[in-house]
Amino acid sequence: MTTAATIATIDVSSLRRTSVPSNAPPAPLRWSVADVAALYELPFMDLLFQAQQVHRAHFDASEVQLSTLLSIKTGGCAEDCGYCPQAASADSGVEATKLMPLNEVMAAAQAARDQGATRFCMGAAWRSPKERDMDCVTEMVRGVRSLGLETCMTLGMLQASQAQALKDAGLDYYNHNLDSAPEFYGSVITTRTYQDRLDTLGHVRQAGINVCCGGIVGMGESRLERAGLIAQLANLEPYPESVPINNLVPVPGTPLADTPLLDPFEFVRTIAVARITMPLAMVRLSAGREQMDESQQALCLLAGANSIFYGDKLLTTSNPQADRDRQLFDRLGIKAQGARPAAHPAP
Ligand code: SF4
Repeated sequence: MTTAATIATIDVSSLRRTSVPSNAPPAPLRWSVADVAALYELPFMDLLFQAQQVHRAHFDASEVQLSTLLSIKTGGCAEDCGYCPQAASADSGVEATKLMPLNEVMAAAQAARDQGATRFCMGAAWRSPKERDMDCVTEMVRGVRSLGLETCMTLGMLQASQAQALKDAGLDYYNHNLDSAPEFYGSVITTRTYQDRLDTLGHVRQAGINVCCGGIVGMGESRLERAGLIAQLANLEPYPESVPINNLVPVPGTPLADTPLLDPFEFVRTIAVARITMPLAMVRLSAGREQMDESQQALCLLAGANSIFYGDKLLTTSNPQADRDRQLFDRLGIKAQGARPAAHPAP
C-alpha cells in the first residue's frame, strides 16, 4: 500500500516560471502529498468551513461561471483512456465523426452565448492535432472569439508550434488534464505518459495561454492518490487558472464501466481541497454532475466550486438540462458570472 511518505511527486520543474535562473535550486513544492492528505482527513465541517473562507476571500460566493462544451470531433480516438467512451478501443457505441464544419461550431457557440455561457470549450477526440487540422481549429477560435466568448480548446497533446498557433489565433484557455496521481495513472492510460501531459502543459504555458487542467476521481484510486493528483495540480508553477474536477461516469463498454461509485462526500471533499490549495483557480464541477442530486451540487458550490459545464452535452455524456440548472441557481440565490478577462493566479 502506498503511504504519504512514499508517494512520489513527478518533476514539474519544466513548468516553473522562466524568470528563475536555470542554475537556481528548484523552489520547494508548495503542497506535499502528506499536507493535501491531511486536508482530506479533516472533519467534513471543518474542511468545508476552511474552503468557504478561502473561497470568500477571493470570489463572490454567490457567483458561478458557466462554460459550454462542444465536441467538434467525436470518437475513434487512438488513446486508451480507460474512462473514455471515445477511445477507439472502447465498445461504447460512440460513432466516430469528422471535424465539425466552422458554421456548425459558430451556431453552437451563438446558442451557448444566448443561454448565458461566457466560455465556449471545443473538444476533439485526438491523440494530438495534425498539421492539416490547425487552420480549421484556429479559424474556430477566431470565430468564437468574435462573438465575445472566452475560448477554450482540448485537442490532445500539442507541440510548441501548435500551442503558439492557437495563441496567435487568440485562444484563451487550453484544457489538458493530468487525470490522476502519477502512481495511479498507468492503470488507466497506457498510450501516453504523465510526462507527455506535463510537456503539453509546458508548451501551453510557454505560449502564454491560460491553463485548464484537472482530473477525474472515482476511478478506483485511493484517497492518498486523490491527494497526489491535487498536489500535482497545486504545485504547477503557476497552478492552473481553471481546474475541472470530474466524477467518473462509468460508461458501459469502457474498461472502468464496473467501477463502484465514489462516496458523494468524498467528491465534495475533493472540491474543498482543490479550493484550499488553489485559491484563485476557477474550480469547475464537470463530468458526473448529472449523477449528483441537487443537494450534492449545492455542497460542491459551498465547498468552493465556482464554475460548471452548462448545456445539453458534455462531450459524449449527458449534462443536466440548462433549465434545471437555472432553477437550482434561483433556489440557491446563485447568479451567473459575467464575462471577464482571465486573471493569472499568483502562487
Ligand atoms: S479522454 Fe481524450 S485522449 Fe483519452 S481516449 Fe478520450 S478522447 Fe481520446
